[in-house]
Amino acid sequence: MWRRPNSPFRFLFLFATLSLSVLPASAANWAVHAQPTRLVNGGPVLFQVKPPARLQSLSGTWLGHDVVFSFDAKSKTWYALAGISLETAPGIYSLELNGETAAVKNGVNKISFSRKLTVVRGKYPKIQGKLSVEGKFTEPNPEQQKQIAAAQEVKKDYLNRVTPEREWSGSFAAPADAEISDVFGVQRVFNGKTQSTHFGLDFRVPSGTPVEAMNDGTVLLARPMYFEGNFIVLDHGQGLLTLYLHLSEFKVKEGDSVKRGQLIGLSGGTGRATGPHLHVAVRWQGTYLDPASLVRLRLP
Ligand SMILES: [Zn+2]
Repeated sequence: MWRRPNSPFRFLFLFATLSLSVLPASAANWAVHAQPTRLVNGGPVLFQVKPPARLQSLSGTWLGHDVVFSFDAKSKTWYALAGISLETAPGIYSLELNGETAAVKNGVNKISFSRKLTVVRGKYPKIQGKLSVEGKFTEPNPEQQKQIAAAQEVKKDYLNRVTPEREWSGSFAAPADAEISDVFGVQRVFNGKTQSTHFGLDFRVPSGTPVEAMNDGTVLLARPMYFEGNFIVLDHGQGLLTLYLHLSEFKVKEGDSVKRGQLIGLSGGTGRATGPHLHVAVRWQGTYLDPASLVRLRLP
C-alpha cells in the first residue's frame, strides 16, 4: 500500500503500528523496508530487514526466488538485492523471511515473518523504432543458426547462475559517462518484425569508449557471441549479473576479480548492432531488470 504523508491511511497505519507494538517480540518487531518505495515490474528492489532478535542467518523467498541476506553490523540490518520480472503482474506479493537466531529460546531457534508488498505496473515507452540490421540477424542461414544455438547454450548455462555470496558493495555506477539512447522495456522492431523487447539500456558512445564495471564482482564471461558481439558478464553475487554488449575490445578475462569503476572493455558495434553503442543489461536470478533503476538505488 502506498501511503502519502497526508492520506487518511496515515492514522490507520499509526494505529496498526501502535497496536502491533504490544504483541510479543516474535511477530511485532520486525522492520522490513523496501527501496524504492514504489515497486514496479522490471525493477530491482533492495530489502532491508531489522529482525526482533540477533540472527545467525536470514533467508527469504520473493516471487518464487530464494533471497540470501547479508548482515551489516553497523546498522544491525540485513539486506539483499532482488528484483521483479517484467512479466510480473501488478498485485500484492509476500516477502517470506526465515531467520535462525543466535540464541535458543524455549527450544526454538527459528523465527519467521511475512511482509506483503504491492507491485504496480512500470511505465515503459511504447515507441516503435524501426531499425534495420543485416539479414543474418533476422533470417540466419543454417550455419548461422548453428552458431546461434551454440551461443544460446552458453547463455542458458551462465546467465542463470546464482552465486549466493554478495560481492557488490555500495551503489551501482553507470558503465559509461554518456547520453542514454534507448531505455529498458521498449518493444523492438527489426526489418518490420517485432523481434524482442529491449532488456537493457543503451549508451550513445563512439567505438573505443572505456566501459567500466558497474560494481565489484567476478568476470563470468568475456567472449564473442553471435548477437551480443564481444560480450562481458560480471557476477556481483546474490544472483545479480551485469552484461556489457557489442564491445570492440576486452580488458579483462573470465575469472578476473573487478572493482566498481574498473575498465573492463572498450565499446564497439560487434554482433547485432545498428552502429557503435554500449548496451548494458542487469539480470537477477534469470530475469532482466532495468539498469537505470538499479543505478538509482542507494545501496549499503
Ligand atoms: Zn540495447
